[in-house]
Amino acid sequence: SGFDGFGFSIELIQTLENKGYKDPSPIQKAAFPELMLGRDFVGQAQTGTGKTAAFALPLLERLKKSNKLAQVLVLTPTRELAMQVADSFRAYAAGHPQYKILAIYGGSEFRGQIIALKKGIDIVVGTPGRVMDHIRQGTLNTNGLRTLVLDEADEMLRMGFIDDVEWILEQLPEERQMILFSATMPSEIRRLSKNYLNNPAEIIIKSEKKEARLIRQRFIISQNNHKIEVLKRVLEAVSNEGVIIFTRTKVITLVVAEALEAAGHTVAVLNGDIPQNQRER
Ligand code: AMP
Repeated sequence: SGFDGFGFSIELIQTLENKGYKDPSPIQKAAFPELMLGRDFVGQAQTGTGKTAAFALPLLERLKKSNKLAQVLVLTPTRELAMQVADSFRAYAAGHPQYKILAIYGGSEFRGQIIALKKGIDIVVGTPGRVMDHIRQGTLNTNGLRTLVLDEADEMLRMGFIDDVEWILEQLPEERQMILFSATMPSEIRRLSKNYLNNPAEIIIKSEKKEARLIRQRFIISQNNHKIEVLKRVLEAVSNEGVIIFTRTKVITLVVAEALEAAGHTVAVLNGDIPQNQRER
């Protein structure tokens, strides 16, 4: 296996084989040796480079026998990413069913999260606001944390979470490993890295943008009051495919959805006002 030689367990190698992974991606090749040693790490890499596995695999392998307290905390900018990262951890932990992994994020029920946290947990993946709430009210104990991961740090900055992130960093045990992933490195992220990371290994992965080359991009200029009509014509031309339409505001999602439904399309609206369980569905 291309994953031999990093010190991974047989169980993990088997899981990766079952998933059809043959070789580590460049960010993984760079990250595995550093993270298996417990070093701090800064990775500049985009989604699609395999960055989740780059930190998830070594962190799973370095978990200590469960002492009920969370050992790893991963912060993500969005609920969807938190769920996705937690799912990845679960998939990679297939050979270690005893590991407990939990996603905690706003909009979903507090009670279920508290019960799961009380039962004992190894890895928590969450959005900054909800993680802060749990730390404040004592339901997430940070004393056992050995590793913190900031995933998509530049997005957290862009979404205004950076103060929350710093507050959380201040609550962590002094001796801990910190891992930061970001697609870009604005000065605020560099400052964070300088202040909180201890002599980190730094890796930059240039993504090839293979997907972008496979996508033909076109635009149509139209007056505002003709846009829906134009959109309907475009949809007629692509009628057999699923389509994602992005709009600038929540209100416009509704306007567009109503117009398209009236034209006979099946439409689902996804915006921040939609209840979390419906968003997940
Ligand atoms: P990410 O960049 O973390 O969003 O991962 C992108 C996708 O690549 C995910 O669907 C992973 O399951 C997949 N992936 C990650 N590492 C590998 C690997 N070494 N070989 C094949 N697929 C991988």
